[in-house]
Amino acid sequence: MYPLTEDTFVSYNKHRIQKLLTWEVPVVGRIIMHIDMNSYFASVEQQANPHLRGKPIGVGGPNDGRTVVAAASIEAKRRGVKSAMSIYEARKICPDIIFVQGDYHKYACVTDRIVRIFRRYSPVMEIFSIDEVFLDVTDTLATYRSAVKSAYEIKRAIKKEVGEWLTCSVGIAPNKLMAKLASNMKKPDGLVVVMKKDIPKLLNKIELDDLCGIGRRTKKNLLSLGIDTVAKLGAVPVERLVDKFGKWGYLLHHMGRGEDESPVVPYYEIPEPKSMGHSYTLPRDTNDPDVIFSTLLRLSEQVGRRMRAERFLGRIVHAVIRTSEFSSMGRQKALKRYVDDGYEIYKVAGKIIESFHYRGAVRLVGVSVSGLVQDYYQLSFLPEDRRRERLLSVLDRVNDKYGEFTVGRASLMKSKVNKGVSGMGANRAMSRSHRNEDRRMPEI
Ligand SMILES: [Mg+2]
Repeated sequence: MYPLTEDTFVSYNKHRIQKLLTWEVPVVGRIIMHIDMNSYFASVEQQANPHLRGKPIGVGGPNDGRTVVAAASIEAKRRGVKSAMSIYEARKICPDIIFVQGDYHKYACVTDRIVRIFRRYSPVMEIFSIDEVFLDVTDTLATYRSAVKSAYEIKRAIKKEVGEWLTCSVGIAPNKLMAKLASNMKKPDGLVVVMKKDIPKLLNKIELDDLCGIGRRTKKNLLSLGIDTVAKLGAVPVERLVDKFGKWGYLLHHMGRGEDESPVVPYYEIPEPKSMGHSYTLPRDTNDPDVIFSTLLRLSEQVGRRMRAERFLGRIVHAVIRTSEFSSMGRQKALKRYVDDGYEIYKVAGKIIESFHYRGAVRLVGVSVSGLVQDYYQLSFLPEDRRRERLLSVLDRVNDKYGEFTVGRASLMKSKVNKGVSGMGANRAMSRSHRNEDRRMPEI
């Protein structure tokens, strides 16, 4: 038997778990497991480099900047270092902290191996982020007893097959909301079981923003309604919540009662794009570099926007032109860093097209980005990145509301394809922007 970890956070839990291991409890409803790897990026670094083990380490951003802690090891967290803290601050409270450059590919490879272990316990697995999954084990494990046993097996298998330095916190509960809450209750290496009958008692012990989905802003709004506890949230008439929050009010109402019907969505039901790109057939063939490059910029901006909307970053830029004789020229370039900024994509794509030294007429321009990773933003804490992201997200919001290219880069104004091309050879992605052809684009 795997040694029981000290489940001190909730006193009833250790007892409960031991009881569950001896008695079979009939299950009503679902059994959902949430598994969260502890201090993941830092633990993977410590796994890879034994010299870092047992020491406070901080993982820096994915690029060259090292101004903010993107992830901290368990040892650093114990000394008060937190994610998003400046390196200056981190060094002040923990002078011997060691900083390591983040390496997404390393983490993704390790995640792959861990996910293969989870898959043995249920095919219904949702990869929630790079270090978290939900498993619906209702059909495969059937009882809480076997879920608890499996949780220990999973912990053991990760250590044995992937790395002894890797630990996870597991929450087992009747739904995703409660399972996520449970895994968060004991770190590192925790196991917390929340059964249906425990839910009301548990909800009395937690803060509103302990519930996944209630952020600082929602909490503030709830406080303004006089709702300061989860119990009050569950008790307030749903109409009041709908008044204030719209549809989201129904969800909040259920959250206040620890209810969550949302299914575990298996990863194979969410096809991940291998690349994101747009191409555009020019209204007439041209060798005017102004037209070709402004079209390329515009397409690059669209690709960037779509990537940001779906929370992707990419590392390989591919650019293509088709000549008036229908032959294509294309090439790709791998970048050192991940990007989602249209202008950065454009700069690379532009260089690729220049490298063709083609002076003839062009019929089609295309750009795409591959080598995609999703939800990588947690590593991006550099101040300049955050400024850029804020700007891009403001642009995205304005463009979402008023139509694409309402606000854009000044250089887009040169784009001759903005005028009078409705429908001509435009692909799906371009067609949306035609509504806004005549809109002026203020300089930013
Ligand atoms: Mg984690």
